[in-house]
Amino acid sequence: MRALKALTYDELQASVLALGLERYRADQLADWVYQKHVSDFDSMTNLPLGQRRDCARQFDLTPCEEVVRRTSSRDGTSKFLLRFRDGAAVEAVLMPMAGHHTACISTQVGCRFACKFCLTARRGLVRNLAADEIVAQVLHVRRSVPSSGLNVVFMGMGEPLDNFEPVVRSIRVLSAPQLANIGARRITVSTTGLPQRIRELAELDLRVKLAVSLNASNDSDRKRLMPVSGRHSLQETLDAARFFAERTKHHVTLEYVLLRDTTDRPEDARRLRALGDANGPFKLNLIPFNPEPRLRFARPEIERVRQFESSLEGAFRSVTVRWSMGTDIEAACGQLFGGAAEP
Ligand code: SAH
Repeated sequence: MRALKALTYDELQASVLALGLERYRADQLADWVYQKHVSDFDSMTNLPLGQRRDCARQFDLTPCEEVVRRTSSRDGTSKFLLRFRDGAAVEAVLMPMAGHHTACISTQVGCRFACKFCLTARRGLVRNLAADEIVAQVLHVRRSVPSSGLNVVFMGMGEPLDNFEPVVRSIRVLSAPQLANIGARRITVSTTGLPQRIRELAELDLRVKLAVSLNASNDSDRKRLMPVSGRHSLQETLDAARFFAERTKHHVTLEYVLLRDTTDRPEDARRLRALGDANGPFKLNLIPFNPEPRLRFARPEIERVRQFESSLEGAFRSVTVRWSMGTDIEAACGQLFGGAAEP
């Protein structure tokens, strides 16, 4: 059995031909799976019965069962708990934006990076997701989006670049015009900042956007807050991000979580300023910490956030604040846990 949602268009065509089917059947299959969202071959009524059976023997459609869905009454954000065949579950989030939706997708069950301000880290790494499981999440949440465009951010549970091959494969499937048809420019990969992997991603020319979670303004704080990622120096990470920007001719976003009295101090702003450059490739996105009783940090007061933002004016291509959506349903950055027992 081959996971159909992990196949590139060329691979899908080759598999169809190997089954003895006509080449155009690949387009019919893609239409059923990626546009009509059917979950079994019996429903593919333009395929002869015998072919439907052959396909069912050859291809796995990757069941992705919705266990729970919660929707925020405040901002319309929905959080989906999705379960795969072995019982492993992840969360995906769908946010209504002006003129489009953004889907926040998971790449691993849990995470091994141990960032102190993130709830997902509390689980450790349970397992990597396969490419078809990543694609299946996007297709699942896309079903509830009317016709407006969909942006995809790999900012859910897990570290995308720690599950490199499946993530890259899922991007190829998601961005292929003949398959999921989500433009690569609408896809953002967010990483804790693994320098070597950032360079590899840049060289693949996938045209996706990159966000790098900086979260500290010097190496010692970063090591403390992000123990695994802190093995690489800030400078190595920023050099790799700069390489990505040059190679892809596109800016890179630096994410920076604001933790009260920990990363929001005037000296942090001063050090951050020194890392930026108004004409350089970086945009800075400040994320006020999303509180969670199990995490021992606090969100700075709003005035402090504004002060921090304005003290960085002119130091980057742009400086913005991300007020996370879905905080009332624990769907915001750092709040995804995946429905397992409480830690
Ligand atoms: N592992 C990847 C993607 C997942 S996290 C990465 O680190 O980039 C997505 C973003 O949420 C990261 O920028 C992270 O720093 C931020 N984040 C994590 N916990 C948070 C919290 N409690 N409040 C606000 N942002 C948080």
